[in-house]
Amino acid sequence: MSAAIEISGLTKVYGAHRALDGVDLEVPEGSVFGFLGPNGAGKTTTLRILSGLASPTAGSGRVFGHDVVASTSAVRAEIGFLPDVPGYYEWMTADEFLRFAGGLFGLSGEALRGRVDALLDLAGLTGVQTRIGGYSRGMKQRLGVAQALINAPRLLMLDEPTSALDPIGRKEVLDMIASLRGRTTVFFSTHILADVERVCDRVAILDRGRVVAAAEMTELKSRYGGQRFVLETTGDAPVLIDRLEAEAWVTGITQLADGRLSVTVSDVEAAQRALPAAIAVLGLGLKRFEPGEISLEEVFVDLVGGER
Ligand code: ATP
Repeated sequence: MSAAIEISGLTKVYGAHRALDGVDLEVPEGSVFGFLGPNGAGKTTTLRILSGLASPTAGSGRVFGHDVVASTSAVRAEIGFLPDVPGYYEWMTADEFLRFAGGLFGLSGEALRGRVDALLDLAGLTGVQTRIGGYSRGMKQRLGVAQALINAPRLLMLDEPTSALDPIGRKEVLDMIASLRGRTTVFFSTHILADVERVCDRVAILDRGRVVAAAEMTELKSRYGGQRFVLETTGDAPVLIDRLEAEAWVTGITQLADGRLSVTVSDVEAAQRALPAAIAVLGLGLKRFEPGEISLEEVFVDLVGGER
C-alpha cells in the first residue's frame, strides 16, 4: 500500500516553544486515520503544514510523494481541507455555496452540477433551501466536509470536525466520514476518543508535539493494553486480588463500581487456564468470566497520562 502522507522529523518552533518535536508518521492510502491528541498537542500545526498554510522549522512532509514545502500547488491539487473554524457565506444556500466552491476549482456545466448533486446527497442536504446562516452546527459541518470534497481530492484532511457538535451532529459527520472509506483517504484530528474508535482503522496519538503511538486500532489496543477479563465471583474479592497480583501475567486489577473485577493480562492463554483455577483454589464461586477489549481511552490515559 502506498503512502498518502509521509512525515519525517517534522518540527515547528514558535519562539521558545516546540509545537512539533520530530514527528514521524505514515498514513497509508485508503485508510481512515485518526490523529488523536489533547489540546495543544500540535494537531492543527501538523495539518496546517501539510496543507501548505504554515512552514516547518525542520523535517519534511510529503503528500502522495509531493513535498509540502517545495510543491505546494501539487499538494493542494490532491487534498481537501476543512479547518477547525471554517468560514461560510451565510447568505448562500448549500447548493449555491458548493457551486461557488466548484467554480473556484474551474468546474462548470454538467461536471459542476453532477459533483454538487453528489455532494449534497452525501451531506444529507439535498433540497434544503434554508440559507447557511440558519443551519445547525451539524449541518454546517457536513456542508464543510462536502465543500472540502469539491475537487474530488485523494486525501481529505479534517481538523477536529466533530468537536463542537452534539451527539447526533457528531454521529452524522462520522457516518459521512465512514462512507468515504475505500474512496478517499481521510486524515482527521480529534481529541474525542470515541470518534476514533467508531470510524478509524488506524490511529496516531500525539502528545506535546511527539507521536507517542501509531498503529492499527486493533494492534494498538493489544500492544498497549493486552487483554482484559471481567470476573464476577462469590465471596471475598480482596483475597482474590491479593492472589492474582502475585501472578506474572497479571498487569492490572481494578474493582469496578458494581463489584466485578477487571483484570488485564499480558498472556491471554495463561489467564484462561489459571484464572478459574485460582478462584477455585480460594474456594470462591465463579459467576461470570468474560473477555473484553481494552478501550482506546485506557490506552490513551496510559500513554499520555491523566495529569495535564
Ligand atoms: P487544539 O486542540 O487546542 O487546537 P492542537 O493539537 O491542534 O490543539 P496546535 O494548535 O497545533 O495544537 O498548537 C500546538 C502548540 O503550539 C500549542 O501550545 C499552541 O499554543 C502553540 N501554537 C500554535 N500556533 C502558534 C502560533 N502561531 N504562535 C505561537 N504558538 C503557537
